[in-house]
Amino acid sequence: MPTGLRARDASREAALELRRAGVPEPGASAEVLLSELLGVRRGEIPFHDPPLTDEQARLYAAWIERRANREPVQRILGRAYFRNLVLQLNEETLIPRPDTESVVDVALECLDGRGGAGAVLDVGTGTGAIAISIAQERPRTTVYATDLSAQALEAARRNADQNGASVSFHRADLFDGLEFLQDGVDLLVSNPPYVEAGGIEELAPEVREWDPGVALDGGPDGLLFYRRIFDEAPPLLRNGADVVLEVGDGQGKAVLELGGDAGFVPLGLREDLAGTPRVALLRWEG
Ligand code: GLN
Repeated sequence: MPTGLRARDASREAALELRRAGVPEPGASAEVLLSELLGVRRGEIPFHDPPLTDEQARLYAAWIERRANREPVQRILGRAYFRNLVLQLNEETLIPRPDTESVVDVALECLDGRGGAGAVLDVGTGTGAIAISIAQERPRTTVYATDLSAQALEAARRNADQNGASVSFHRADLFDGLEFLQDGVDLLVSNPPYVEAGGIEELAPEVREWDPGVALDGGPDGLLFYRRIFDEAPPLLRNGADVVLEVGDGQGKAVLELGGDAGFVPLGLREDLAGTPRVALLRWEG
C-alpha cells in the first residue's frame, strides 16, 4: 500500500483487494481493521481521514494480507467483542459468536426466576464468554467454568480479570474432578462442540482453518457432547436446576429428545437474533 495515502482511500483499496481475494463482506473487514488502526469507532471513520503514517500503512497492509488469506478479523486483532465484553483469544479458543449472546440471555432469564442468584456451571468455556457475562451481569451468582484446554483457560482467566468478573475456572473434561461441587448447581450452561463429522470441511475457511477443531467437533452426528452432558451432569445438578445449551442449526429437537430420554424435562427452544432456534432449555427434576 503506497504511503501518504489517506485513511479512507486506503480502506477503499483494501476492500477491493479483499473482494478480489474472494473474502465475504470485504468492505466490512477493511473498515473494521481501519477503525482499529486509527483507534476510532467504525461509525466515526467518515469524519476521520488522516494520511496514514508509514507505520500505520505497513501494519494495515499486513492485516489486509492476513484477511485475504481468510484469517478472521478477530484473530488478526487477537480479540473479540461479546455483549459488554472485550475478550482476548488464542489458538485454542473459538471466536465467540453473536449467536451465543442469546444463550446468555436465556441463562439470565433463568437466573432472574431465582432472584438473580445461584450457582452456575459453564462447561467448555473457551474464552469464558458465557461465564464472564453471567458473572458480570448477575453479580450475585457464583460462577464455575471448565475447559479441557489449559491454554483456553489461560485466556478465560485473563478475560475474567480484565473484565472485573469473578469466575472459578477448572481444567476438566466436562465434569471430571468437580466433586467439590457436591451441593450442586442451579444452572448448567454450555456451548459444546456440535458440528457433525464431515461438517467441518464444509464450514467457511475462517472457521475451518482458524477455529480449534476440538471446539467444533461434535462426533459422528454432532450430538456427542449433548449425550455426555445429559449422562454425566445429574450428580452436579440441584433439583429444579435449569439447563441451557447452545445447539447447531436443526439440532434443537434432537437435543430436547435426548434430554427427555435421559430424564430431563424438555422446556423448549429459543431463537438467536437471526431467528434460528439456537438454545435448548431443559430442567432437571432430580
Ligand atoms: N457456531 C459454530 C459454527 O458456526 C459452531 C460452534 C460449536 O460447535 N459450538 O461453526
